[in-house]
Amino acid sequence: MAESPHQLAASPLHLPVLALPGVGPSRAARLAALGVATVGDMLRLAPRRYEDRTHVTPLAEALHQAAAAAGEPAEPALFRVQVHAVTSRRPRPGLALLLARVADGSAAIEAVWFNQPHIQRLLRPGAWLYLFGRLQWSRGRPQLAAAEVEPDDGSPALAGRLVPVYPLTAGLTQRAVRMLVRAALTRAAGRIEDPLPGDLREHLGLPHAAAALHTLHDPPDAAALAGARRRLAFEELLLLQIGLGLRRRSRESVRRAFRYAPAGESSRAFRAALPFALTGAQSRVLREIEADLQRARPMYRLLQGDVGSGKTVVAAAALLRAIESGRQAALMAPTEILAEQHYARIGPWLGALGARVRLLTGRTGAAQRRQILSELASAGVDLVVGTHALIQDGVEFAALGLVVTDEQHRFGVRQRDTLVGKGERPDVLAMTATPIPRTLAFTLYGDLDVSALDEMPPGRRPVRTHWREPERRGGVYEFVGKELAAGRQAFVVCPMVNAEEGDDELAAVTEWSQELRKKWLPGARIAPLHGRMPGAEKDRVMRAFAAAEIQCLVATTVIEVGIDVPNASVMVIEGADRFGLAQLHQLRGRVGRGPYASWCVLIAPDRGGPVTERLRTLERTQDGFAIAEADLKLRGPGELLGLRQHGLPELQFADLSADLHLLTQARDVAAQLLAGDPRLRAPEHQGIRTAVGRLFGDVVGWEA
Ligand code: ADP
Ligand code: MG
Repeated sequence: MAESPHQLAASPLHLPVLALPGVGPSRAARLAALGVATVGDMLRLAPRRYEDRTHVTPLAEALHQAAAAAGEPAEPALFRVQVHAVTSRRPRPGLALLLARVADGSAAIEAVWFNQPHIQRLLRPGAWLYLFGRLQWSRGRPQLAAAEVEPDDGSPALAGRLVPVYPLTAGLTQRAVRMLVRAALTRAAGRIEDPLPGDLREHLGLPHAAAALHTLHDPPDAAALAGARRRLAFEELLLLQIGLGLRRRSRESVRRAFRYAPAGESSRAFRAALPFALTGAQSRVLREIEADLQRARPMYRLLQGDVGSGKTVVAAAALLRAIESGRQAALMAPTEILAEQHYARIGPWLGALGARVRLLTGRTGAAQRRQILSELASAGVDLVVGTHALIQDGVEFAALGLVVTDEQHRFGVRQRDTLVGKGERPDVLAMTATPIPRTLAFTLYGDLDVSALDEMPPGRRPVRTHWREPERRGGVYEFVGKELAAGRQAFVVCPMVNAEEGDDELAAVTEWSQELRKKWLPGARIAPLHGRMPGAEKDRVMRAFAAAEIQCLVATTVIEVGIDVPNASVMVIEGADRFGLAQLHQLRGRVGRGPYASWCVLIAPDRGGPVTERLRTLERTQDGFAIAEADLKLRGPGELLGLRQHGLPELQFADLSADLHLLTQARDVAAQLLAGDPRLRAPEHQGIRTAVGRLFGDVVGWEA
């Protein structure tokens, strides 16, 4: 049945978490950091993983394994033991030790707790307990440290189960979150609505949402858990597909405010004047764009193209089409340097054809800015190239017809939409060098059109990529030194040890610069660059590097974005195991942009597993699309694809690397459902309508 607004408000799922026992304002704030605002959100907080406490491990078996593991950390296990003797000690102020001799019939060991005096009351000699922890050898003796304790009272809460492990934020413990989830389940008992209509569920053989959520938080076994997760993932993907379908439909109903003139003299002159012939991919994408421009609805296209694939020319040709048709155009880049680079390249191309082009960034002087703003408002400028400065209040266009964003993944959707909002339904071309895997692009971003520049301009030499273990660092920097001596330049990227702490970025870069000066590259002109520097300072360093005054730039990933320094021939990435595949590929794209042979050296220990696979993939392949596919396969479940960048809700349950089949199914069901009930007016679709509205907010554009 349809829910009336009154019933909706009364549902316990919509209550704030403050309604749960044990939640006050400070805990509510911590939960908010996890994206949990309501009781319903609490119920849908997806565990990151589960601890397998389904079976008891005999101590003797764990001892045997610990001995064989030779110091490697052991897997945590569940033990059922009897307490024999307990002692407490205070070896020094601030450290309280609790030691218990425990045995299970197969062996006896010592368990130890630090500063947890409250555990003592559970440790009565003779009592049977469940302990969950890692049994390891420490100073020649087996020891179970800081194990979780649960009395064996016949109905333990955690022992014997798959125990969920939730994401946490500072000040929230695993215990507290488990308790709150249980409280939420109790509070919502019998009141969990299922957004999916009953016959759809039946048709697809999916359990009710309430059953799935109970199983999620307290799975009886792995098979039931997989079923529940699948069900929740399907719901999530279905809502995503329905949201996208609605968004696409609302976009399609929009009409452009003007008509594009057919490609004219300027467009022909532009192509004739280019110093090179367009690649096949560039020509194809320009035809796709042209077809968009001849349609009645505005273009909404994502252009994916690997670093160096030649997106700038495509952008310039598109911008020119708007100008030819009597409109203004805007090109927005995420950094001042990139904006200046575009201005320096595109400005002369289009300027030669009579277009009036301006640059507007944070560095633009006040008087000049005023001048540009007045020209933009009075149609005295045809193209403005700039940074975030373009989306500030006070920037107004007389007739903005086309918006191009470069390195789209660096912008929020809101920023792009702000610029778009400065025109009357302008066309949009969003460019990115971080491709979405082809297998996903269509299904996932079904509401925008996607073009791919999947061909490099001729003569591009691959960046030779080598992975070296840290012991061979000396040889790597010896090579870098030779390149510098030959007049080339180098980037050295070092990772932040703890990415959440901004200060560590500064420390990492500063320390590594000193290390390089002292030990590895004495005499070289080395400068650090990091995200904590003021923008002007960052720019100064980048300019000095571009002018070859600096030979070696030591940086964190701030250099990731499309800067062009053709003289740079080496990219050294320290701690390469800490970076994602796509990010490593982006970094590598900073070299190999000139006539020189170029190298990328990845420095990382061989840890095996996905990290090794990542580094090998990079050594082997240069193709950004292939790398995006590999990245998707190598990502563990739970790692996400940055949906938020595209204004989409993040996925909690679906794992896009594993659930492609589910995604296809969800897409088909969504298409059918919308074909039969395009505005979700049917009573059985009210649950879906509400959920989609909640997830997509105003983007859906209900015209109902
Ligand atoms: P990106 O896609 O990374 O933005 P750019 O547009 O900066 O790539 O192009 C990279 C380089 O390739 C530039 O120096 C550009 O002039 C050059 N280039 C672009 N298209 C071609 C082409 N068809 N033939 C030869 N060189 C090209
Ligand atoms: Mg570019």
